[in-house]
Amino acid sequence: MYKINDNYLKLPGSYLFSTIGKKVNAFATANPDKKIIRLGIGDVTLPLAPAVIDAFHKAVDEMAVKETFMGYAPDLGYEFLRSAIAKNDFEARGVKIDIDEIFVSDGAKSDSGNIGDIFSVDNKIAVCDPVYPVYVDTNAMAGRTGVFDAATERWTNVIYMPCTAETNFAPELPAETPDIIYLCFPNNPTGATINKDELQKWVDYANKVGAVIIYDAAYEAYISEDDVPHTIYECKDAKGCAIEIRSFSKNAGFTGTRLGYTVVPKELKCGDVSLNSLWARRHGTKFNGAPYITQRAGEAVYSPEGKKQTAEQVAYYMNNAKVIKNGLESAGYTVSGGVNAPYIWLKTPNNMTSWQFFDYLLEELNIVGTPGSGFGPSGEGYFRLTAFGTYENTLEAIERIKNA
Ligand SMILES: *Cc1c(COP(=O)(O)O)cnc(C)c1O
Repeated sequence: MYKINDNYLKLPGSYLFSTIGKKVNAFATANPDKKIIRLGIGDVTLPLAPAVIDAFHKAVDEMAVKETFMGYAPDLGYEFLRSAIAKNDFEARGVKIDIDEIFVSDGAKSDSGNIGDIFSVDNKIAVCDPVYPVYVDTNAMAGRTGVFDAATERWTNVIYMPCTAETNFAPELPAETPDIIYLCFPNNPTGATINKDELQKWVDYANKVGAVIIYDAAYEAYISEDDVPHTIYECKDAKGCAIEIRSFSKNAGFTGTRLGYTVVPKELKCGDVSLNSLWARRHGTKFNGAPYITQRAGEAVYSPEGKKQTAEQVAYYMNNAKVIKNGLESAGYTVSGGVNAPYIWLKTPNNMTSWQFFDYLLEELNIVGTPGSGFGPSGEGYFRLTAFGTYENTLEAIERIKNA
């Protein structure tokens, strides 16, 4: 008789966004005349940039011709893309990353979930609270957590690092020593960042205690302040302790076409075992590459036109972020984020719970956002709005809130 992976049975309830989806659908069905504005899910809305679309078209045409047809991609990804990444995302920041340290993938969600494959089940993880749920749930699936305690809304055997208003929504070094530390800056859901000196403290700490940092930099393109690091490898000795995960989703709108990459430096070793070779083995065995056409489109993100056009898209979203932040502040809300990230993290008014505020916004103002408590217990009493909507809808939503 076969057995299932019963770690899956430990996972609590339904995924945050399916709960939200059900509530919104029920409301929409009962109120067909109401115009609902969605500032909830972190998905982009602008179409792919012209330079990206041109590259897609060209690559599709290549696939139609015997001489230029492409089959399986190389394990790590095409060299043209990895070279563009090394040059633009790292060399331009004064960081040397070799192209065989870059692993092209179908996105940061898969990589942040799959990276656990190369680590023992015995490792103890540390995560921010609130947190992007993928880090915790994938570790639970792997059996690296204890059990979920509904009362505390926390897993046993997981180190939580509360990110609260008192710490500017940044984590503090944990009292208990972790083996694997998940960090995401600029942060989803809070929109918070830490500066280079602060990130250096984490790198020094990880090197000191022998921990590895999984650094999710999916929102790097949204950084607007000078002292915020664009890659963890700007920090000294980070190559000895950090894996960095990147995505083309939020900077270039690839949420539907799928492209990301992970950097595993060759210097990163556990004893004398290279994590780079473990991840290469994992990648080569369980993954057959992002599509050629998508990698060509990703390359176009780094062309002069691609850079300009995707920067305009980011600027469009960041203008929305400003509209939300300023509007909420003038309506008397306590707000953070929205400066280096497309997320605005607001304190719910009148001590409402996150879900009470969700229901209020949906039912009274027909606006959808995301309850902070869905990202962890320290998110209770907070709420996330995203800047990924259209400018017009964002403006209208904020007018509704101001006039409420
Ligand atoms: C959106 C997001 C990702 C994204 O991933 P893709 O799978 O590349 O679309 C990764 N990490 C965080 C924190 C995100 O918000």
